[in-house]
Amino acid sequence: MNEEMLKNQAKEEIPYKIYLTENEMPKAWYNVRADMKTKPAPLLNPATLKPMTFDELRHVFCDELVRQELDDTTAFFPIPEEVFNFYKMYRPSPLVRAYFLEKALGTPAKIYYKFEGNNTSGSHKLNSAIAQAYYAKKQGLKGVTTETGAGQWGTALSMACAFFGLDCHVFMVKCSYEQKPFRREVMRTYGASVTPSPSETTEAGRRILAEFPGTSGSLGCAISEAVEAAVGAEGYRYVLGSVLSQVLLHQSIIGLETKAALEKYNVKADVIIGCAGGGSNLGGLISPFMGEKLRGEADYRFIAVEPASCPSLTRGRYAYDFCDTGKVCPLSKMYTLGSSFIPSANHAGGLRYHGMSSILSELYHEGLMEAVSVEQTEVFAAAREFARTEGILPAPESSHAIRAAMDEALRCKASGKAETIVFGLTGTGYFDMTAYQKFNDGKMSDFIPTDADLAEGFAKLPQVD
Ligand SMILES: *Cc1c(COP(=O)(O)O)cnc(C)c1O
Repeated sequence: MNEEMLKNQAKEEIPYKIYLTENEMPKAWYNVRADMKTKPAPLLNPATLKPMTFDELRHVFCDELVRQELDDTTAFFPIPEEVFNFYKMYRPSPLVRAYFLEKALGTPAKIYYKFEGNNTSGSHKLNSAIAQAYYAKKQGLKGVTTETGAGQWGTALSMACAFFGLDCHVFMVKCSYEQKPFRREVMRTYGASVTPSPSETTEAGRRILAEFPGTSGSLGCAISEAVEAAVGAEGYRYVLGSVLSQVLLHQSIIGLETKAALEKYNVKADVIIGCAGGGSNLGGLISPFMGEKLRGEADYRFIAVEPASCPSLTRGRYAYDFCDTGKVCPLSKMYTLGSSFIPSANHAGGLRYHGMSSILSELYHEGLMEAVSVEQTEVFAAAREFARTEGILPAPESSHAIRAAMDEALRCKASGKAETIVFGLTGTGYFDMTAYQKFNDGKMSDFIPTDADLAEGFAKLPQVD
């Protein structure tokens, strides 16, 4: 055998799981904004419509996180040693070749997934939670407040706060609080206090309850409450688990590891897919690959997958909007359904957000990324197929990416193209069994907002020139 043949043979022998060693883990996060020619639009102060300054933002967020939020030019941020050591408890995460799924689909496509569910919080959110808790601790703060939708972010943050000895107050969207009592108990076990949102404990919560009596809540409402609780308490700051550019920065660890793992076996991805709620896992996964595309070094297709019930990219407007229902946060330019839009109670709680990361919004606007929306029954059909072939019980959010990856693989089957598909498997679904039960009983339905429903949300967008 000559060297070329050896190389080709090695190329074919991809292990079921590609692990990096600790030494191969990235030592710095990558900020894709540094390579974007058109930067994402700045956050605006809703009163003056001027870009938010460091001094304005530091009342809400930790200082170092504000610096990261406002930095459009630094490409790499070293991962602090304490954070890196924490990462070592559950990272690097495996990149898995989905041999069994490929076989079941009968596709020539090669499918890989980056699995982020290997930690107690069950999702990728711990990657940013530990960074945010670290900066809060370093600044000498007493604690942080936040919101949680499906509960994954609240769980991740309570783990991170327990590790650094910080107080953690979580406003949990009411329908999840009631549907997922065990998530709440995990958070309490890690020392967090959990309040169902909207609540009577904040001005914003009382206002929302007055306007929408009996509402099951939304991420937008819970954000307003958490911000108010942080700003009103000495030594507290607010932290957010998605949407913000700092969160995409921390989540770039997913993409950097994926890229290193693929390079280890000489694999070149063609299509990279992720589910999109606020955009953090997708942004983190695609960042280093998008960087190559932006610098003209390589080309990829990127696909954002969102629920048909909350279609911010595929049916939203690209406009300045509030990040929260209570309108206490800065304005962000993003694809949005309007901050007053309350999505129907679908089962992918982590994807029920009216807006989208400003970074991903700009990339999508420039045609550098595609987006599709999928309905929840077809998502759960994909989840079931994946569970039966690949063994992992996926989170409903992650299953949106599985659905799109399977659809791409079936397209390859029809065209006979052996493309390489990589998708983000963001988490496990053990706390989502009520949803699986509905699906198994044939009682799950699809909620798709009408154009008239969406028009109501657009009508209330703030007027910004
Ligand atoms: C929160 C969450 C998501 C969606 O959030 P992004 O910020 O868009 O990544 C996806 N999957 C899981 C498992 C989640 O917990």
